[in-house]
Amino acid sequence: MSRLYAPTLKEDPAEAELASHRLLLRAGMIRRTASGLYSYLPLAWRSLRKIEEVIREEMETIGAQEMLVPMLTPGELWHESGRWDAYGPELMRMHDRHDREFCLGPTHEETFTDLVRNELRSYKQLPVTLYQIQDKFRDELRPRFGLMRGREFIMKDAYSFSATQESLQECYDQQKAAYARIAERCGIRALPVVADSGQIGGDTSVEFMALADAGEAALVWCDCGFAADVEAAATTVSVTEGPGDGTLEKVYTPGLGTIEAVASFFGFPENGTRKSLALIAEDGTRVVAIVPGDHELNEIKAVRLFGDYHLMSDEELEEAGLHKGFIGPVNLPQNIRLVCDESLKASKSWTCGANEVDYHFTGACPGRDFEVDEWADLVSVHEGDPCPHCGKPLKGARGIEISQVFQLGTKYSEAMGATFMDEDGRERPFLMGCYGIGVSRTLAAVVEQHNDEHGICWPVCVAPYEVEVVPLDVHDEVVWPIAESIAQQLVDLGIEVVVDDRKERPGVKFADADLMGFPYQIVCGKKAIKNGNVEVKVRATGERNEVPISEVASMLAEMVIPQRA
Ligand code: ATP
Ligand code: MG
Repeated sequence: MSRLYAPTLKEDPAEAELASHRLLLRAGMIRRTASGLYSYLPLAWRSLRKIEEVIREEMETIGAQEMLVPMLTPGELWHESGRWDAYGPELMRMHDRHDREFCLGPTHEETFTDLVRNELRSYKQLPVTLYQIQDKFRDELRPRFGLMRGREFIMKDAYSFSATQESLQECYDQQKAAYARIAERCGIRALPVVADSGQIGGDTSVEFMALADAGEAALVWCDCGFAADVEAAATTVSVTEGPGDGTLEKVYTPGLGTIEAVASFFGFPENGTRKSLALIAEDGTRVVAIVPGDHELNEIKAVRLFGDYHLMSDEELEEAGLHKGFIGPVNLPQNIRLVCDESLKASKSWTCGANEVDYHFTGACPGRDFEVDEWADLVSVHEGDPCPHCGKPLKGARGIEISQVFQLGTKYSEAMGATFMDEDGRERPFLMGCYGIGVSRTLAAVVEQHNDEHGICWPVCVAPYEVEVVPLDVHDEVVWPIAESIAQQLVDLGIEVVVDDRKERPGVKFADADLMGFPYQIVCGKKAIKNGNVEVKVRATGERNEVPISEVASMLAEMVIPQRA
């Protein structure tokens, strides 16, 4: 410890909101060089190398081959794929001395496609999966949370080249399975979340989400295995009927222009009311979209349906003949398209605005009192909505995206003319998949899931060191030799050990040991040693036990080794 370059901080750094950011800084594992740029100090680097080793082993198992391409990428390739113009300001661009365009790779589809396009010629050579572990560059709009969202970060990126869809599916499934194992072996609880569904119902992209309250993504999941991003999940919510006996009735609701007010006026849950939103679609069409009262219009789904739409301004409402707070499906003015959420299809008694100031309808029935132009999936799924697979109520969670697998198809191979000869001698574009793991973000996610108020609680699998030996008095002629000998025995057993040989007070040593969070601490104090013992503390649980000096090294080796990744 006296030699270790791990400058710890006593105070919480002001800029660090997330536990992982704060603790990695405080434990002397990372330092900020500039916004979104971090140096990995020795302890972080040891953990990162362990994560990388897990990745390498899993890639080896499925026959993916490691290699390395330049970070610097010629602009020409990005022009060929069309991404030079499409990527926007996140792409770090530059010119060389001959004024040629380059970028620092944020991902490397172009480089790998270019690499194989003239050399993989026949279907007989396929499939091939290549990967690298390398720094990536993205000039993020808001770099933040330490390693979570950097402008330079470590990624493992893999690219598969296949002759057929079946082969692509196989490569994709293998990567997906490997990604689940990698997360687990790194000590991360992660959910595979479908990011994109294919036409035939299978998934074509899955994100692995590390569960953490600090995660940017809102998720829903179910014990049956279903998990989805709230923003992207297809959903039908359960809805209750409104008040009344099912006959259309106009009710005077003075000044009640919000769902909350209407629901409480009728003494009904918000779910029993219908929320109407007036918007203008990209093509200029006026639309009234109706969703269950307790749900919101989902941005992503709305954009899919209406293009670059906007909600009507007060002026636009007036022009359309609509009244804010009292919009509804019955008696809609001319030239308004009515789009309703699919989950309302079965409901026959709607409580909704009456298109008249200060009035609502109860008992409005689609098909009888109004015609719906289109039923569509419009809302974001909520915790408690029925699981689309099994119907049980969904649970909510937040997640950090640590990795993603993706079937690209022929997007890049077609754009870049990367073809091979198929069985019938025809030129065909490769079917590609790409597979990325945020290595440095994974490290942050581990810390996010394994910490307490005193510091990090490393799982053995990715801990910088496995055991810390803490002699309480390094000058003591009994304590020090025993500590040294235990450390040596551990080293001989192949355990990664750090010894706190500093002339610090016990309190300081304990605090640092907990902050850095190596999985096991062996505390060597005078009193216990008199009885032939040392104290073993399990960092994650706080459990302490006195263990005979002669047994401690072998006992720890037995505990540590099976927990390795
Ligand atoms: P995000 O949605 O978080 O911006 P992304 O979907 O754009 O990420 P991908 O292109 O899928 O990221 O990259 C693969 C992996 O690289 C991600 O799953 C994530 O773990 C990691 N990653 C992406 N951007 C960053 C970043 N700015 N800092 C650290 N890791 C990142
Ligand atoms: Mg992603």
